Amino acid sequence: MLTHAPKALYIHIPFCTNKCHYCDFTSYVLKGQPVDAYLDALEREMVMTAEALPPEEIRTVFVGGGTPTVLTPPQMERFLASVKRHFPIHADAEFTMEANPGTTDLDKLQAMRAGGVNRISFGVQSFDNGLLERIGRIHNVDDVYRSIENARTAGVHNLSIDLMFGLPGQSVEQLSDSVAKALALDLPHYSLYGLKVEENTLFHALYERNELPLPPEEDELAMYMLLIDRLTGAGYGHYEISNFAKPGFESRHNITYWRNEPYYGLGAGAHGYARGERHVNIKGIQPYLDAAASRLPRLETNAVSEEEAMEDFMMVGLRMLRGVSGDDFARQFPDRTIEDVFGEPLARLLKLGLIESADAVGGYRLSQKGIPLGNEVFGAFIS
Ligand code: SF4
Repeated sequence: MLTHAPKALYIHIPFCTNKCHYCDFTSYVLKGQPVDAYLDALEREMVMTAEALPPEEIRTVFVGGGTPTVLTPPQMERFLASVKRHFPIHADAEFTMEANPGTTDLDKLQAMRAGGVNRISFGVQSFDNGLLERIGRIHNVDDVYRSIENARTAGVHNLSIDLMFGLPGQSVEQLSDSVAKALALDLPHYSLYGLKVEENTLFHALYERNELPLPPEEDELAMYMLLIDRLTGAGYGHYEISNFAKPGFESRHNITYWRNEPYYGLGAGAHGYARGERHVNIKGIQPYLDAAASRLPRLETNAVSEEEAMEDFMMVGLRMLRGVSGDDFARQFPDRTIEDVFGEPLARLLKLGLIESADAVGGYRLSQKGIPLGNEVFGAFIS
């Protein structure tokens, strides 16, 4: 198990202008929230984290949410300065912030750029205004174009957008139109997610009442295959099951997760993984503020057994289309090999043609047949 200080840093800003109908992330409607007190508490967590596990060199930062771009430009400036005060950010670090197209004017994007942000991931989801409204997003398609233009004007060119498929009432044609519009923006990175109906969301309540018109399963599969086809056809590498990039623009931060490497996780509801322990922070805003006044605001911390860490390694690693590497496995688990530990599921999945040898990395990867059946493959490594 890797024991060095994490080189990746995740920070959670748990506020959004409103709650999307499918969202089960730790996020709270902004109005009336003590945002400045939250930023104070976050800085206290940074201080305590740096004392408990001194950072050496941070290579990737990811500020997610929630919607980090609900911060005002002065709050943004203060927040980003606090990150740099407590973590030694490498000069070539990838520094990503999630953004909502409805909350990104030029002032804010300039404050982000000045504070070190050099990559932005926009939650676009669709280029169909009717669909955006139906899923509870606050932005419209014009906001998307304006935000991308503002980001470029502010000097951030490493941009990604998220699109969703399998949305209620969405047709394959509608998705095809959204992808064409997304590709016309000529961005270096695209993330494409299928809708999952999660508990405690408005969509779940509608689903339970049989009032959520989800596309049939075969359409959902057709949508995923169409996305792969269009993105790879446009020259993007399909490097992770849901992610596509031009060469050199793969998300370095997310690759940390998929390689099962350690990362700091700060903020309400954030997860972290370091020195063989995973933690989850307290989710509620006031309980988080109260806890951070005197201690690391942990909800739970669990030691990860070697067995569990090896399973995680396979489960998240196979999400990358390059596959899992035997050398990486040996580095994390000295004296063990993938074949010794996972002989049975490997043989079964190879026989089914869902995975194949990945000679380039000396390991295994999803086959073409296995890509749409990823969840079945990942599940095979969990005891
Ligand atoms: S913007 Fe993102 S985090 Fe906020 S409610 Fe919508 S899906 Fe959830």
